[in-house]
Amino acid sequence: MKRILILFLAVLFRCSYLQAQSTAVSSADILQKLHKLNTVGSVLYIAAHPDDENTRLLPYLTYERKLRTGYLSLTRGDGGQNLIGKEQGEPLGLIRTEELLAARHIDGAEQFFTRANDFGFSKNPDETFGFWNKDSILADVVWVIRNFKPDVIITRFPTTGEGGHGHHTASAILAIEAFTAAADPKRFPEQLKYTEVWQAKRIFWNTFSFGTINTTSESQIKIDIGGYNPLLGKSYGELASENRSMHKSQGFGTAKTRGQTIEYFKQLGGDSVSKDIFENINISWNRFPAAAKLSKSLDKIIAKYNAQQPQLIVTDLVAFYKQLQALNETDATLRSWKKYALKETEELLLASSGLWMEAYAADYIAIPGNDIATTVQIINRNKNLVTVNAIRYINQDTACTLTLKPNELYTLKHADKLPKEFSYSNPYWLNQKHSPGLYTVSNPLLIGKPKNDPAATVVFTVTIEGLQLSVTRPVVYRYTDPVKGEIYRPLEILPAAMINIAERVYVFNDTLPKNISFVVKANMANVSGTLDWQLPEDWRATSANNSFKLNAKGDEALITISIQPSASSLSGKISAFINVNGERFSKGITRIEYDHIPYQFILTDAEATIVHMDLRTAGKNIGYIPGAGDDVVACLKQVGYNVTILTDDLLDKGDLKQYNAIVTGIRAYNTNDRLQIYYKTLMQYVEQGGNLVVQYNTNNRIGPLLAKIGPYPFTISRDRVTDEQAEVRILQPAHVVFQYPNKINSTDFNGWIQERGIYFATEADTHYQSMLSLNDPNEKPHEGSLIVTPYGKGNFVYTGLVFFRELPAGVPGAYRLFINLLSIPENK
Ligand SMILES: [Zn+2]
Repeated sequence: MKRILILFLAVLFRCSYLQAQSTAVSSADILQKLHKLNTVGSVLYIAAHPDDENTRLLPYLTYERKLRTGYLSLTRGDGGQNLIGKEQGEPLGLIRTEELLAARHIDGAEQFFTRANDFGFSKNPDETFGFWNKDSILADVVWVIRNFKPDVIITRFPTTGEGGHGHHTASAILAIEAFTAAADPKRFPEQLKYTEVWQAKRIFWNTFSFGTINTTSESQIKIDIGGYNPLLGKSYGELASENRSMHKSQGFGTAKTRGQTIEYFKQLGGDSVSKDIFENINISWNRFPAAAKLSKSLDKIIAKYNAQQPQLIVTDLVAFYKQLQALNETDATLRSWKKYALKETEELLLASSGLWMEAYAADYIAIPGNDIATTVQIINRNKNLVTVNAIRYINQDTACTLTLKPNELYTLKHADKLPKEFSYSNPYWLNQKHSPGLYTVSNPLLIGKPKNDPAATVVFTVTIEGLQLSVTRPVVYRYTDPVKGEIYRPLEILPAAMINIAERVYVFNDTLPKNISFVVKANMANVSGTLDWQLPEDWRATSANNSFKLNAKGDEALITISIQPSASSLSGKISAFINVNGERFSKGITRIEYDHIPYQFILTDAEATIVHMDLRTAGKNIGYIPGAGDDVVACLKQVGYNVTILTDDLLDKGDLKQYNAIVTGIRAYNTNDRLQIYYKTLMQYVEQGGNLVVQYNTNNRIGPLLAKIGPYPFTISRDRVTDEQAEVRILQPAHVVFQYPNKINSTDFNGWIQERGIYFATEADTHYQSMLSLNDPNEKPHEGSLIVTPYGKGNFVYTGLVFFRELPAGVPGAYRLFINLLSIPENK
């Protein structure tokens, strides 16, 4: 049992990013890895979000100092804004997880997370800890430290608030507490069944100069990280641009820098040093007396290494591997390094002997209990003596004795069966419902891991020059796209059929029945059954035909049910399920497909919020100018509007009078340069009686706003109110935006989610009227969340209120106020 656990942790705390794409290992990579194997020191960088990590420092630590380097991001960045698509919340966290893994693939560091959910912007650490449950996240940080066993810990932020965001300050507070707690057997003793206490030597804050805040000083430890690495053919400043630019959902593409770059470190704990963060820390194998000879062996291998003929070191690597195996494991630190080094040496053996093996499924979807056809390919591209002794397919061991001829590709096909008890693929932290601040993970051994292990694996038992190794490969799906070339995608273990609901929320603004459609999709051939549903009490539904028969895999059936809202119970959930051959399935799938990360998906229950609200509408036709991506259009359609997406063509034609209102999507002026050109068209539209409603834009690093937006000047600030329960004071209660067609009062601000508003207007021209005043606790009131001005016969509105979050969540007050903004009558 213990052995199994040790193996499990060995897998857990190695870089577990399995590249979706097959990667080549060059002779330069091998030399780099040999040097790294001869360095026995580690460093853990700790911050709060994807993008907080110092992407210049990490490659310097891995490739120049050759340290085992980790980045612990407390959150997955779920709460941020998405610059590349519509995903928000959990799907966005999944994108950012993969972006971090893609960045780590470039800089060679390992990636860890805690269970903390990025619930949105937080102004101070106390609020942050209120959401996260401080002790739970402290436990996770301690768990990662105890397993990774870093010699040095580095925080991105200080505990004193200069990092701005409450999550940032919280990450530093937790790092400092964990520095001590990880070494204390009384703290989180339940972890010690699986790992050991760990005292890092010291902890530093990597001080910074961001904008006007400069926390560096010449008295701090300084390291020039601007060096050039000839094995990579790049400087660390060039690499920093490559890994930083993987944070695409945040728009963090950066330029390559060259030449001297100084990083500053202020010591926060541990034995005091003045010159270097690793001063007086032995980072060679002889830090363990029992392992001292390993350094010499590796020195010899490195001296002998010939980039033209890497296979010449295979025999010596085999001997080194056996030396590692023979090491006594009584010392926990040595045990941890031994596991790490065995795995690294295994990879070096495969790379230097040119041995390559992969496993493919015939399809990217596999169903538990069904057949799965697997193909493995293996090739020995150098001239070392390699035999294959066994292959363990998903569900079956096969013995074989195959001596691999040089450069001959062996393809073996196997008819396998996926065991019935295989669980469906889904990100492990999204398998259960969770609180706003903390993901629920029932298996404590999963905590810290960046993502799931591969859904299925094949294990090759191979003998290289007399050394037997077990090499695990994920089962993947491989195909060729005519444009993109060869693509790998992860194997998906899915139910026989799935149900998707078109919308997350259905709004009923009268007592008439409304049709809701479900798409049932077969993941295998011959799936037939019926769709059923559950509704809140007093809601009624009927369906003309709720049965389906799907012949081929991939076939879909559209099933529509008519729902009659209840007058008494105003909101609830509709959940749907299908009965297929006596089994019940209730999952739908959300797919996430971008080129810079592997294909992702989330399985979710087929359910939607249904809300019956008192909502009057006026007008019928809305024009929508898309911005960075939001779901507002679907919400407007729900309540009966005809929404036209205003493309450049339509805006060029300028025939806008037909629209009762034109709405711009979030950050439209940041993402669409052509809105500058349409400024006159839009102002003319307002002048002639239209309503232009501009949702928030930013005025910051990503898109300093040069375009004119309104008829009179105003500036966009970074003011925001993050407390979604903050009191909202109506400044102009008699104004038509609070009167028509819905009467608005303070109860309309109940039940909002995540936050009130962001990027409020400031320095607004006197033509504008401020409609609302609101503020976070202990802050001064902001009056720029909703400003309105008449212009000609029409009206212009700028709002930082987060309608794009509230409407898809079915918040009645948000609908009522938003509809009013679209319905301001023409000025006489
Ligand atoms: Zn951050």
